[in-house]
Amino acid sequence: MKEINCEILVVGSGLVGLVAAHSLSSLNFKVALVDKKNFSDPNMSFQDNRTVAISEGSKQFLEHLHLWSDLKGYAEPIKKIKVFDRSPKNKIEFKNPNTSQNLGYVIENKIFSKILIDKLNKFKKIKKIYGFDVSNVEYERGVCKVSSEKYTINSKLLLAADGKNSKIKNIIGTKTYKKVYPDNALVITFEHEKNINNTAYEIFYKTGPLAILPMNSKKGFKSTVIWSNNKNVLNKLVNSNSVFLKNFVEEKIGDYVGHIKKISSLQVFPLSAHLNDSFYGNRLIYIGDSAHSIHPIAGQGWNLGVTDVKNLYKISKSLRGQIGTTSFCKEYNDLTYNKAFQLYQITDKLNSHFKKNNLLYRQLSNIGFSFIENTHEIKNKISKYAMAI
Ligand SMILES: Cc1cc2nc3c(=O)[nH]c(=O)nc-3n(C[C@H](O)[C@H](O)[C@H](O)COP(=O)(O)OP(=O)(O)OC[C@H]3O[C@@H](n4cnc5c(N)ncnc54)[C@H](O)[C@@H]3O)c2cc1C
Repeated sequence: MKEINCEILVVGSGLVGLVAAHSLSSLNFKVALVDKKNFSDPNMSFQDNRTVAISEGSKQFLEHLHLWSDLKGYAEPIKKIKVFDRSPKNKIEFKNPNTSQNLGYVIENKIFSKILIDKLNKFKKIKKIYGFDVSNVEYERGVCKVSSEKYTINSKLLLAADGKNSKIKNIIGTKTYKKVYPDNALVITFEHEKNINNTAYEIFYKTGPLAILPMNSKKGFKSTVIWSNNKNVLNKLVNSNSVFLKNFVEEKIGDYVGHIKKISSLQVFPLSAHLNDSFYGNRLIYIGDSAHSIHPIAGQGWNLGVTDVKNLYKISKSLRGQIGTTSFCKEYNDLTYNKAFQLYQITDKLNSHFKKNNLLYRQLSNIGFSFIENTHEIKNKISKYAMAI
């Protein structure tokens, strides 16, 4: 068994763990980053066809870490968001009150991950071990010892960034409140005829929300759809022939994107949300999806993970000498928990609000929609809240 010492061990090289590793090594901590997948294998297929809608707040943090200059050529700005309840008649349109900023930026997860990994590979001071599947966590004289089959890594602080089904959470026994939604989300990437002019659409159908996000494309127009719907409906669609699928999608969103030229990827994700009882333990902090996950209705899950990293970055600067102590970990929890709780509730309630079909309820909802559409102060407040996450 090989033994390695570091100050901070990050378990999980997902999009949150990678940003955490970058931010902590920029503060000159001795960081180790591990993942059970082998990211150094050029043949490893990255089976995630999703995109992330990066908020302005997350983009500014990436800028601060000198990462944005490498990413921006692949990120498509969102300049306008159109929200429809059932039909374009009930709409709210968001524009950015501050014209020097955008409402968000859409980037493909696989490109995002590759750029962050390639950039990390240039930092020789970060120890990276891929193919490291956590098997045990124990403590010895103020040190956290995390083991896999071949290694033991000793650190002052363990950052669990190992996703929704966190093994660290299971080993430690941290309790979690979990909600499994009856729907799945279908993610489709496609080339299309019409320019959507950097507009993102969120259309609330009675079966669930459908979002269209503009994507960066060197030629023509490309977008992605994230569509929550009944599992059986989506499975049937995914298993249907490509002509039927193209026609179906075109019928659904052709008014916005025009003719669908080519579907490049198609993937279904189960939908669930969870919140850990606490985001810290003994020399342990949970970040990203290992701490919380939310319904993708507002496309904010990764951004919320970046908020965790920003908070950690802030206290790592101010409490540098106390890294991993109980007061350090508790400070992180106090700074982080409420925002995650808020977003968990907002996304969950939005989802159930828009799925309600009672006629009177819908009429009242339409009145609320029209009120927001016509009240600029409220629209600006909503835009600012979403951009700042
Ligand atoms: C359909 C859909 C659309 C979404 N769209 C958006 C969006 O537009 N904007 C947004 O902000 N968010 C979005 N999200 C949420 C976002 O995808 C997640 O919040 C984010 O990717 C979580 O990143 P993470 O690094 O915390 O976890 P993960 O991406 O799950 O990474 C965890 C890492 O840990 C590793 N790991 C797991 N177990 C172990 C182990 N035992 N040992 C070692 N390593 C381990 C895994 O291999 C993985 O690399 C969406 C989610 C869904 C489902």
